[in-house]
Formats: sequence, structure tokens, C-alpha cells
Amino acid sequence: MGFEEIKEKDSKYIAHTYSRFQTDLCGGEGAVLCSEDGRQYIDFGSGIAVNIFGVNDEEWKEAVIAQVNKIQHASNLYYTRPAAELAAMLCEKTGAKKVFFSNSGAEANECAIKAARKYSYDKYRSGRNRIVTLKNSFHGRTLTTLTATGQDAMHPACFAPYMDGFDYAEPTAAGVRSAVKPSTCAVMLELIQGESGVNVLEAAEVRAIEALCKAKDILLIVDEVQTGNGRTGKLYAYEHYGIEPDIVTTAKGLAGGLPLGATMFFGKCEAVFGAGDHGSTFGGNPIACAGACSILRRLDKDLLLEVQGKGDYLRTHLSRIKNVRAVTGMGLMIGVETAKPSRELAQKCLDKGLIVLTAKNKLRLLPPLTVKKSEMDRALQILNEVISE
Ligand SMILES: *Cc1c(COP(=O)(O)O)cnc(C)c1O
Repeated sequence: MGFEEIKEKDSKYIAHTYSRFQTDLCGGEGAVLCSEDGRQYIDFGSGIAVNIFGVNDEEWKEAVIAQVNKIQHASNLYYTRPAAELAAMLCEKTGAKKVFFSNSGAEANECAIKAARKYSYDKYRSGRNRIVTLKNSFHGRTLTTLTATGQDAMHPACFAPYMDGFDYAEPTAAGVRSAVKPSTCAVMLELIQGESGVNVLEAAEVRAIEALCKAKDILLIVDEVQTGNGRTGKLYAYEHYGIEPDIVTTAKGLAGGLPLGATMFFGKCEAVFGAGDHGSTFGGNPIACAGACSILRRLDKDLLLEVQGKGDYLRTHLSRIKNVRAVTGMGLMIGVETAKPSRELAQKCLDKGLIVLTAKNKLRLLPPLTVKKSEMDRALQILNEVISE
């Protein structure tokens, strides 16, 4: 099936919720992808921060295939080794006490929201169940996580009614302070707002938000669906901030390309869930967890330093490009602001063989963590041609 036929079937039979770029992707090696017609692309998107070791990674493939040869699914009625191993590794590396596995970022956040309400209910009984989220945040597409998302544009009338129980704050300590009420049980935030433009929250503001939460026994939930798993040059971005969140959610890159979400509970709320309180048929699937183990095992100090170095290299060179107004982000999560419409620039990059993402008015760059210097240089050359034009 060639590209035209794929495209025809896709638009005939798949719901039209995505405006796709005009190419298919069918293979590649590391940070180089190819389409059915044999065109090659340097990948600065990683399938939206998912393929963190690129494609065709030997170690990941070996782990996944070995598990496929054993058992593909067992259900949560039984124990499986990959889930137990992955949970232990996550807790050992972060200091979290318990993990709940699901299949996506939205589900990981949904779980965090339920846990925060239950923590508060168990301790204070009813009437303390509201959650403060930040303006310009993005937390997912289920009705609850969509409601949690602090963007009016994401709340069109056609999907109403939305959930009750969310208050939106300016992304500062003062903003959160004025949104918190006696009925607030949690504050949920992204430390780098990904979808809305790679906006990095200020460390002093975040620490003040943490202090406010601690003083009032309000849980601090950090949504690391995009920033997690080495993306920013730390295993989780909260480590840059010197804070101790109560709940951390992640997904995207965790299993290196397979659907897996995780909600991590730190000391305070380790015992919040008991038998029957929450569940997921596919959550903790052994294939996804085996893939994740092979990823997490390699996210060590050396690799994270390498991510920081590559990020610094890209940011330095990007900021020198004519027409670039600002470069934001941390590690290999980078936003590039220019005066031109970002979708148009992304299309031009694609035409020249570079895949990039957009985030509002910015280009968003999320290359695999293993991207090579030669690939970064080629990408910078293309970005330079497209942006300075
Ligand atoms: C992508 C994303 C989500 C949603 O994840 P899905 O896997 O698409 O449900 C939630 N929060 C953040 C910060 C994200 O970047």
C-alpha cells in the first residue's frame, strides 16, 4: 500500500480529529525516520516525546520481544514480573513509595485527581475536594483532565457539561495563593508547560507554591507526562526545582513507544488507595512494562548529563538564528519563538527533511535523547534556512 492509498483509507475510515502532515512514517534508525516512498527525516519530535531512544533501538526491541514470547497480558488479578520490576525501579530512582500503572497521560492524571480527593476525604471528610490548576496548562483529553486543563479554548460548549471542582490560577505563587480556598485539596501543575509553548515555571514561584501546599496540607501533583523520563536532563523535571511533590504522573516516554502511564505516590499519600479503589484492565501490561524497564535502566547520570549538554548545544545555536525571538525549555525539551506561524514553519522543515512539533506560536523540539551531533547539526542547518528566510 503506497502513501496515496494509505491516505485515502485513513481519511475514509478514521475519524477526522487530527490534521496530519502529508507523509506516512514506516521505519528508521535512531533519530532518522523514513516514509513508504523512501524519504528520510531527522526526527525532532519523537512521536511527541515518546520514542526517547529513537526507533529500532536494539535493547528495547530485545526486551519487548522477549516479553512477547512469554505472555502479552495477564490482567491485574495476577502478579507479573515486569510490572513489579518497573515499580521497584521507579520508586528506587525517585523516592516514591507506590506506583499505579495505567495506559496514558490522561489516565495517570485522572488517577492522581481521584487519589488527591480521597486523601483529603479520608483525613478531613467532605467539602475539601477542589483542585487548583494553572492557566495555559494541558492535562489530557478525558472530560476530567480536559476540565483540569486551564485553557478556555479547550472547553468548547459542544462537550459541556465539564466536571466541577477545578479552579484556574495564574502560573505564579501569588496566582495559586489567590485561587486556593478552604475547599482545595490539591494543586496540579506542569513545571514546563509543554502543549502551550514550552513555558518554564520559575523555580522561586514553584518553591513558594510548594511551601503554601505544605502549610495547608494541600497535595502537590506534578504532571510529568511530557517532562519526565530524562527529557529535561533530570529523570523527572521536579529535581531541577528542589521540591518534593506528593504525586508525580508520567507517560509519553516511559515505555519508549508503548502505551504506559504511571502515577507515583510519595510518602504522604502512599496508602491512599486500597483494594477496589481504582483499576485498569491494561494498566501495567507486561510488554509495556518490559519496554519501560529497558528504558529506565539506561536513564542514568551519564545519559542525563549528555541530555543537558545536547540541550545547551541546541539552545546556543538556535538563539543565534536570525528571526528567533526566544528559546525556552530545559534539556531536550525546547521551544523556539519566531514571528512566523509555527505550523507553516513546521511544514517547511518537513519539506526539507526535518520533523518538528509546534506548541501554540512556537516550534517545539523533542528529539530522541540519543540524537547524534551530526543529526543536531543537520537539523540546525534546516531550522536556520527555514526561520531566517
Ligand atoms: C500529552 C500530555 C498529557 C496527555 O497524555 P495522553 O497520553 O495523550 O493522554 C497530559 N499532560 C501533559 C503534560 C502532556 O504533555
